[in-house]
Amino acid sequence: MQTTAIKKEQKTGYFGDFGGQFVPPHLAEKLNNLYKVFLEYKDDPTFKEEFKSLLQTYVGRPSPLYKAENLSKELGSTVYLKREDLNHTGSHKINNTIGQILLAKRMGATEIIAETGAGQHGVATATAAALMGIKCKVFIGKVDSERQKMNVERMEVLGAEVITTITGNATLKDAVDMALGYYVENPNVYYLLGSAVGPHPYPTIVRYFQSVIGEEMKKQILEIEGKLPDAIVACIGGGSNAIGAFSHFIDEKNVELYAAEGAGESMELGKTAATLTLGKPGVFQGAFSLCLVDENDKPLPSASIAAGLDYPGIGPEHANLKEMKRVAYYPITDEEAVESYRLLSKKEGIIPAIESAHAVALTTKLFKNKNALVVINLSGRGDKDVSRL
Ligand SMILES: *Cc1c(COP(=O)(O)O)cnc(C)c1O
Repeated sequence: MQTTAIKKEQKTGYFGDFGGQFVPPHLAEKLNNLYKVFLEYKDDPTFKEEFKSLLQTYVGRPSPLYKAENLSKELGSTVYLKREDLNHTGSHKINNTIGQILLAKRMGATEIIAETGAGQHGVATATAAALMGIKCKVFIGKVDSERQKMNVERMEVLGAEVITTITGNATLKDAVDMALGYYVENPNVYYLLGSAVGPHPYPTIVRYFQSVIGEEMKKQILEIEGKLPDAIVACIGGGSNAIGAFSHFIDEKNVELYAAEGAGESMELGKTAATLTLGKPGVFQGAFSLCLVDENDKPLPSASIAAGLDYPGIGPEHANLKEMKRVAYYPITDEEAVESYRLLSKKEGIIPAIESAHAVALTTKLFKNKNALVVINLSGRGDKDVSRL
């Protein structure tokens, strides 16, 4: 028992049995070089200072931890919101794009590419690329480009070229496939992946840059309440805002961790994005993790009202946290999310991203009249959703 556990820990790029790097040799070489550069700079004082300074003066960190009194009264539990919606560009995505663009710069990249679902990652990448003066291409599925039109226009204003893909389901999975293809073919391109998914080293790199959320959250709740929360709740698409929020609490056994995935219309394969609840283990987009598949183990299209949660895969660290039973994952339907989107808007004057509304909905389900201390990671703002919901 003990020996296998130790062996697992030592296997680079794995979280328990999940993760790894299932890609052609040419791509593996590029990814291993990226990991080398990441290891070289992640603890480098100059790099860290540059990252920290941009987070403070450009992104607007630390993001506030806000006590939502009205929502708390309504719920019968004390609820704090970690305000990632107040970051520059409106979500947590910018933490990762600023971190990775600093790596890209050190690698001498002449072009940045990215995939995007909700458009938030595309906007955050286009923003970071504009800041550094590097050319940028963003791949987006046609379905997503239509439901997130405002973000497509923002990317274009920021100087990025937006490339729409009509293959497959024309959502995030297809945008990732297209970006990976372009990355393999073009040598001086940096692929700025937007979530804690894909082949090693991306899950590790994205977690590192997003862990600033959990670091601040811990410090803030201790300052305000003098104790750790009973629970943290985040929404989960690929898993980056959730792993960022959880990062400094995984070893705190008294803090319960919850994540809300997009159930879609109903929990029926083809109509849902509830990968952690309904997914099966397998290799998908470069990593061994859970994935929504049909009876022949072929990846299935996902569905969710929230473009940012509409993905049939999941980051490998979450697959492992589920197996270890350290994080509890729950599906939230479109309808429940919309109800919470309205509730938070009316009660607190905060319009959440429909993605983040899933976390609010899960909180209302789990903590009604529980008198608990709960922190919701409010991953983004909902301006992008107003014309549609
Ligand atoms: C992209 C996005 C998500 C989902 O992505 P994760 O990697 O799971 O965090 C959630 N909320 C918002 C606002 C997003 O833009």
